[in-house]
Amino acid sequence: MQLIDGKNTAAEIKAEIAEKVAARKAAGKKQPHLAAILVGHDGGSESYVANKIKACEECGFRSSLIRFESTEEAPLQEKTLLEAIARLNADPDVDGFIVQLPLPRHIDEQRIIEAIDPAKDVDGFHPTNVGRQSIGLPCFHSATPYGIMELLRRYGISPRGKQVVIVGRSNIVGKPLAAMMMQKGSDADATVTVCHSATPNLADVTRRADILVCAMGRPGFISADMVKDGATVIDVGTTRVPDATRKSGWRLRGDVDFDTVAPKCSFITPVPGGVGPMTIVSLMRNTLIAAEQRD
Ligand code: NAP
Repeated sequence: MQLIDGKNTAAEIKAEIAEKVAARKAAGKKQPHLAAILVGHDGGSESYVANKIKACEECGFRSSLIRFESTEEAPLQEKTLLEAIARLNADPDVDGFIVQLPLPRHIDEQRIIEAIDPAKDVDGFHPTNVGRQSIGLPCFHSATPYGIMELLRRYGISPRGKQVVIVGRSNIVGKPLAAMMMQKGSDADATVTVCHSATPNLADVTRRADILVCAMGRPGFISADMVKDGATVIDVGTTRVPDATRKSGWRLRGDVDFDTVAPKCSFITPVPGGVGPMTIVSLMRNTLIAAEQRD
């Protein structure tokens, strides 16, 4: 069994991006600029945004954080958020931006996503980018699946001709990953099955996978009997579970029961340190592309 080290791979990619940014600077081109909108004080969102800002520093990017408060007594008006998005769309200095999800329930997330200029949508969530991706046109790829494809590529694990089973059909992981995996071309060409909560006999399906991707948000759900001998297992799940030994009182756990599944695999990603760092680095790759397109 070989561990797929997303942390080290992400560090390598950030170093490659930093070199390209230095070359841009030497050529008199502007520093890529990523902006992030953060609403409220959700612990997970705070730490994701902090990690994205840190990654910007490591890549030599400029970053801006736009914060909005939203409480039950004083909820943020959707209009205020839409105005902030319009300003970022129009700002020639901003190459790309993200609105950190989830948003408070009273805000229509889809309306917010669709307000972002597709040319600055470095999360790849706008329907224009999703649609272009599904028919294989140049676009901003959704960051998590983009990171998974790059991780496989760098470990020499080709999906070509393989049975790929994805458990989870969300718009940010399962669906865009399925589209990438089934694309015609040497980096993809997989036979893809997507499972969800209405899939009967899930274990029968997952056991057929040469590459099994788990994106459910159900900690430890995938057990050894659900995995074929020699499979590659990619664990996207990141759920905070109580852990009294940690100062924080919690730790991150994936969807895969790592200790029992790992001995059966040819390759497996850990949680943390697998897919997570690759998601952030994909956002950096998209931001560099956005800056290059605006040169
Ligand atoms: P989501 O929108 O909640 O989707 C979960 C998917 O799992 C749904 O399609 C659901 O089916 C399916 N599912 C849930 N229980 C199932 C079961 N018992 N059997 C079969 N399918 C089941 O989640 P998401 O946003 O894709 O995120 C999934 C996990 O990945 C979460 O832990 C999240 O924190 C993590 N994540 C990590 C990263 C990263 O960078 N590491 C990025 C994004 C997400 P239905 O559609 O039928 O409800």
